[in-house]
Amino acid sequence: MTRSIRPLVAGNWKMNGLKADLAIAAEVARGYDAALKQAVDLAICPPATLLFATSAALIGARIATGGQDCSTQPAGAFTGEISAGMVADAGATFCIVGHSERRTLHGESNATVKAKAEAAHQAMLVPIVCVGETKEEREAGKALAVVKKQLRGSVPEGSTPETLVVAYEPVWAIGTGLTPTAADVAEMHAAIRAELARLLGKAPAAAIRLLYGGSVKPSNAAELMNVANVDGALVGGASLKSEEFLAIARACQS
Ligand code: PEP
Repeated sequence: MTRSIRPLVAGNWKMNGLKADLAIAAEVARGYDAALKQAVDLAICPPATLLFATSAALIGARIATGGQDCSTQPAGAFTGEISAGMVADAGATFCIVGHSERRTLHGESNATVKAKAEAAHQAMLVPIVCVGETKEEREAGKALAVVKKQLRGSVPEGSTPETLVVAYEPVWAIGTGLTPTAADVAEMHAAIRAELARLLGKAPAAAIRLLYGGSVKPSNAAELMNVANVDGALVGGASLKSEEFLAIARACQS
């Protein structure tokens, strides 16, 4: 944790969730008590079909919502796409961009991710820009270089702590139950902060929220959240269980 930074725990529901699952968001809202509210920000990123309803359900609870992706384009003949403006119009504060599943399954390049982050900015959304190395890249000793290159290519110029969140998600840790060691997370998050300082200036970089993501669970959250320069978590699977999501949030309280 960085003492001066208010942590953020964001849940990425991925392609999971029907109307009935709004109950999960309601349970999270019920468990987000005064002590937790004082210590940590929460966000839920449901599938696009549930974004408006989730945002409406969470307004009173001071829990933000986010999209999981957005188009690079503002509007027009792009069947199936969802613009950042639409994500914002559905009540979201954040928008995940460059998740490894988008980079891998949809061939999104750093340039595409940057264009999406810029589209998010145009719509007054805060992009959560995801970066992370594959297993092969880590084993080849290239993790730091890969992530720094992703940051250089994906982060919009002029981003500030108010307009950018970065999530470090090693691809090999997503949905696998595997996590890097605390030392590896510390090394990577320090490198991310240093690279952001080169790109955006030292003062803004020092206050940008750097989330760790990849198999965060209640059992490992305290250790991961206590690593220097980890300012919260991006949570996939565990965010679909309200009690687990809240337990991860509680790990940021101390
Ligand atoms: C994710 O998809 O962003 C993620 C971190 O997934 P999980 O927590 O399930 O590894």
